[in-house]
Amino acid sequence: MRRFFLDPNLLTEDQVDLPGETLKHLRVLRLSVGDRIELLDGSGQVATARIEILNRQNAQVRIVNRRQEKELALPVTLLQGLPKADKFDLILQKGTELGIRRFVPVLTQRCQPDGGKRRLDRWQRIAREAARQSGRFRLPELEEPVPLAQALAREEGDLKLVAWEQAITPLNQGLANRQPQGVVLLVGPEGGFAPEEVALAQRFDYLPISLGPRILRTETAGFVLAGILQYVYGDLNRPAGGIEPAQTCPEQGGRRDGP
Ligand code: SAH
Repeated sequence: MRRFFLDPNLLTEDQVDLPGETLKHLRVLRLSVGDRIELLDGSGQVATARIEILNRQNAQVRIVNRRQEKELALPVTLLQGLPKADKFDLILQKGTELGIRRFVPVLTQRCQPDGGKRRLDRWQRIAREAARQSGRFRLPELEEPVPLAQALAREEGDLKLVAWEQAITPLNQGLANRQPQGVVLLVGPEGGFAPEEVALAQRFDYLPISLGPRILRTETAGFVLAGILQYVYGDLNRPAGGIEPAQTCPEQGGRRDGP
């Protein structure tokens, strides 16, 4: 069933007039009266709805049931040194696919000004589309850019890591004997961190960790960390539908059939 994120205020009644953007989507997808769709409020509520009116001007649906879905992803907050122009778009898109819960662009000494392309509404659209496309029930939270010190003082997690190419602690040591319920990751912009920024992060209990001998691009560092954390503590290892694999079939030499 097709899914659409909607302003939660629109989901309080059982009869809903869909906004223009969703109407356009329904028409592009050639859905019609009688079809069912799912409407998501962005925090886990899923409403199944039946299309009752659909024309150029109006799309109206009736909600037939509601349920609450939980995400099993580890809550990960990414404090991302704000990179140049469109790179943050990519970080949002891929980070959302990787289950990041909260994105906080941080302003550090070596961030480069980018001529005002930092627009929260644009970022929100990108994150919403990535959440829809990747089948997430939750919309990631997205903050306005903040100075590093402010982000360090504000963000909470029981494991806090700063990716630093000069760190001596490898990632697996940083994760040893830990069962975090929530992780905060700090990744520098293209130019990396000034040493005093890493020292400041340490004062806020961030552990500097190395991601190996190669210098990764800023976006790569966040993706690698998010992927590993979801694998070790989150839902990267959990099949989506809970569908059992096909039974072994002796006539085919014992090979498993794909779905
Ligand atoms: N200042 C560096 C590169 C910065 S890379 C230079 O120009 O040589 C951007 C960010 O990615 C870094 O601030 C760090 O957070 C992360 N990063 C990249 N490679 C890393 C590695 N091998 N280990 C840990 N963090 C890394």
